[in-house]
Amino acid sequence: MDRTVCLELDASDPLADRRGAFTLADGLVYLDGNSLGVLPRTVAARLDEVVVREWGEGLIRSWNAAGWVDLPRRVAARIAPLVGADADEVAVGDSTSVNLFKVLAAARRLRPERRVLLTDDTNFPTDRYVAEGLAALGDGLEVRAVAPDAVAAALDDEVAVLFLTHVDYRSGARTDAATLTAAAHRVGAMAVWDLAHSTGALDVDLHAWDADFAVGCSYKYLNGGPGAPAYLYVARRWHTQADTPVRGWFGHARPFDFGTTYAPADGAERFLAGTPHVLSTAALEEALAPFADVSPATLDAKARSLTDTFVTLVTERCGDEVELASPREAARRGAQVSLRHPHAYALTQALIARDVIGDHRPPDLVRFGFAPLYVRHVDVHDAVEVLADVLATRAWDRPEHHRRNTVT
Ligand SMILES: *Cc1c(COP(=O)(O)O)cnc(C)c1O
Repeated sequence: MDRTVCLELDASDPLADRRGAFTLADGLVYLDGNSLGVLPRTVAARLDEVVVREWGEGLIRSWNAAGWVDLPRRVAARIAPLVGADADEVAVGDSTSVNLFKVLAAARRLRPERRVLLTDDTNFPTDRYVAEGLAALGDGLEVRAVAPDAVAAALDDEVAVLFLTHVDYRSGARTDAATLTAAAHRVGAMAVWDLAHSTGALDVDLHAWDADFAVGCSYKYLNGGPGAPAYLYVARRWHTQADTPVRGWFGHARPFDFGTTYAPADGAERFLAGTPHVLSTAALEEALAPFADVSPATLDAKARSLTDTFVTLVTERCGDEVELASPREAARRGAQVSLRHPHAYALTQALIARDVIGDHRPPDLVRFGFAPLYVRHVDVHDAVEVLADVLATRAWDRPEHHRRNTVT
């Protein structure tokens, strides 16, 4: 495979026109949209307007006049089609960690006679910690973590909730969410999905999966900006029964009645807690504009094509200097490919110094994320050229590339 083939693939890419919506420096190959998405061009002007005009001039009036009070609902309506949900099944706010706590508690309350929260032992650390924090509140609840291929067998009538991440943050392996959800339902358990590494890149279809609850990040493939508000999903069948453990006034049916008794809002909105983060939610609303009219299936097809191109080129150009740490079959991985190298941290730093940005996960992985809206096949080609050169010349072995930063 050569550069011309990659240019041809880009020429027939249905998402080719979207790249222009993003701020990307010339010559930079950004393969870390799975950690922090690229800045969409119109976000800065929108934030300026929100700060200067809506906040600075409008002040308290802007809750109504500028529609701040409906901002989470408008953003939920933009995220819903990307996860195969209806708008009122999605709520936007808080962080993924906090949202996971809320939905795990709610899911568990719907299975009060059971005492196990089941996950796999490769799940993202915050997911485990949050579940353990919930279990530590008492009442005999326990977190059980098993190897990914042992999850189905570990489902039994003790399991209240199965909670998993759709795409593994290290290997990039994609689980079969529909099959595992069905397996959970067969034993009477609830199924909760973490979509942090999926939404905005893959064919997420919560209705087709028959998921009960889900959570996810908006600063990764959704490009909402550092620390952007997260979202959660509550399947319609639970809307009248689901109960959030954080009964905040913004999840109340009529917050501005200031009533003394709690009455939850309809739908997923009851899981909102406090006052929305207006600045970051406004940035997210604007950031989602390039996803308009893009189906999750189109994103998925592009992600597969990009990762396939990367795997092919690495196999051709890098010999056995690196080992593929992701599934070889595109359907079994997310929009991410990880490579194993004994000096993965230094290798990542050497690539960054050459304007190819991926990231490192211990002990020995270099991760590359392929955001379908703005990464081109030609970028993949150019990144692999740099990678092959850095490996062949051992450029990674310079002292400056071994120096550790806090964020890897
Ligand atoms: C990135 C990520 C998170 C992040 O959670 P925050 O609360 O936003 O820090 C959670 N879960 C998974 C699987 C992730 O990849």
